[in-house]
Amino acid sequence: MNPLLKLRLLDLPYPNRCDCCYERIPYDQLLCPACMEALEAERISYDDWAADQSAQPWDSGAVLYSYRDTARNGILSMKEGDRGFARYAGQKLAETVRKVCDPETLSFVTWVPVTRRRRLSQGYAHAENLGKALAKALDVPTRRDLLTERQGTLRQHDLPSDARSLYAQRFQYSGGSLEGKRILLVDDVLTTGSTLRRCTDLLLEAGAESVSIATACARVREKAAADGQSVP
Ligand SMILES: [Zn+2]
Repeated sequence: MNPLLKLRLLDLPYPNRCDCCYERIPYDQLLCPACMEALEAERISYDDWAADQSAQPWDSGAVLYSYRDTARNGILSMKEGDRGFARYAGQKLAETVRKVCDPETLSFVTWVPVTRRRRLSQGYAHAENLGKALAKALDVPTRRDLLTERQGTLRQHDLPSDARSLYAQRFQYSGGSLEGKRILLVDDVLTTGSTLRRCTDLLLEAGAESVSIATACARVREKAAADGQSVP
């Protein structure tokens, strides 16, 4: 059967839906046009988040959207395992990454892990589909299982920002030497940066030459508040 016809027929019982608003969309679309337009209005840059880049262990950062409205809906559906927003954001994030680092110099893309229990129950890490889509768009290999998260009872978003660096100690490195590797580390949302700082430190301690970070969203107001700056 013609593969396009097969997709069209599949679309009848299993309609493709936009991850951000759940409207029906054509089978070959990742998101609906209204959400793609809304996302453009939610664009921010890494510099909006990073008031003091020298405080960060990574070489460069790439961020797409403010964590609100449409982008927030996309992140929430990505956590549920939907791939539309992850693939769309992965492609867009690749364009942003290219502006701050040369993909040809990157050794691999990896992402912030989840606990083994969570991975077994849901089958993926929440940043994994984004990381894979980004790696594909950049034509860079991926590596998983370098970083692990120990099981605990608290979820990070339940914690105040000053407890987040303590929480980040749950992440561990479990791979071999990363001597000379240049790594792109991916997560869904950048808030205080404690998780990505911890994961970056672990990769650098394992010998990585450099780490850059890329996230779909950032929470600029929360970061400013955690830094003790006044928030308008
Ligand atoms: Zn939509």
